[in-house]
Amino acid sequence: MHKQLFIPGPVDVRPDVLEKMATPMIGHRSKECTALQESISGKLQKVFQTENVMVLSTSSGSGLMESAIRCCTAKKAAVFSIGAFGDRWYKMAVANGKPADKFRAEDGQATHPEDVEKVLATGEYDLITVTHNETSSGVQNPVGEIAEVVKKYPDVVFCIDTVSSMAGADIPVDKWGVDFCITSTQKCLGLPPGLSMASVSQKAYDRAKAVTNRGLYLDIVEIYDKVVKNYQYPSTPSLPHMFALDYQLDLILAEGLENRWARHAEMAKYIQDWARKYFALFSDERYLSNTVTCIANTRGISVADLNKALGERGMTLSNGYGDLKEKTFRIAHMADATMDDMKKLTTAIEDILGL
Ligand SMILES: *Cc1c(COP(=O)(O)O)cnc(C)c1O
Repeated sequence: MHKQLFIPGPVDVRPDVLEKMATPMIGHRSKECTALQESISGKLQKVFQTENVMVLSTSSGSGLMESAIRCCTAKKAAVFSIGAFGDRWYKMAVANGKPADKFRAEDGQATHPEDVEKVLATGEYDLITVTHNETSSGVQNPVGEIAEVVKKYPDVVFCIDTVSSMAGADIPVDKWGVDFCITSTQKCLGLPPGLSMASVSQKAYDRAKAVTNRGLYLDIVEIYDKVVKNYQYPSTPSLPHMFALDYQLDLILAEGLENRWARHAEMAKYIQDWARKYFALFSDERYLSNTVTCIANTRGISVADLNKALGERGMTLSNGYGDLKEKTFRIAHMADATMDDMKKLTTAIEDILGL
């Protein structure tokens, strides 16, 4: 039996979108392929609210995160982390021999504009990374406010991780001046995992050109040049994902971005209220995520047992991430999920726990 997914990626994919993955192949150097990418780029620019160049990578989002920090750090990177995924960005810098410092908030807390101001004012850094939506703690950072600080430092390349929020929350890339904005297919976009995408500014590209040892497969200069030239890629991209993405983007734009964010917000509010009633929220109330809720296990239940019982009813949620396992659990409300899905899940949890 398929278990309905309430985990923060991969998410359930609509059957018609899944079917597009089985489209017969075309040559990746053909005119059809150029047209496919051109179509995807135009639609992604709307979702990202940007005029920057859109690139795809046949890797999950981590690939483009590594590409950004490796290719665009010349001097030193300031990594603002509020959880497991921010920590990963720092590990990527270290693994690639890039000078980097990590500025870590406690789990459940946000990155504040004042923190960023203090760090950038030192003049030591020429790239910063911020996690827009930290999936491990259910915190959505105030990136709009942080962006106002970053704008005062025109030499700094601004990278954000929107892997678990793009298309599930309002992320105006150009208004915020984001140079490298990354997301993956398997979260709010509602596609299978295996492809990621980013908007890349001229500034990020120019920086990368001045950096040596960018690697090859994830070299953003190679990828960007080829996309700008004829909407193709240096190596063979995942065409099945591209067919499905092109189709799903039509559905997303037909729903309307504002409507889509509002649907996510309505589900988020419902799950947050439910969590406050029976448990407590793990995250700082001022910065709750639109797409995933992290619930403090104040009743000391066995999350593993709960998930087992849910599994027998054809559903699954997420235990806490890493050290937060059993101390928290997470419910995703992203992609094509509905209020009915949320109610079905909470009713089942109440029934199983006798709440
Ligand atoms: C899932 C996730 C990642 C990792 O993305 P992959 O596509 O699995 O590589 C990075 N950051 C955040 C915030 C995520 O939720």
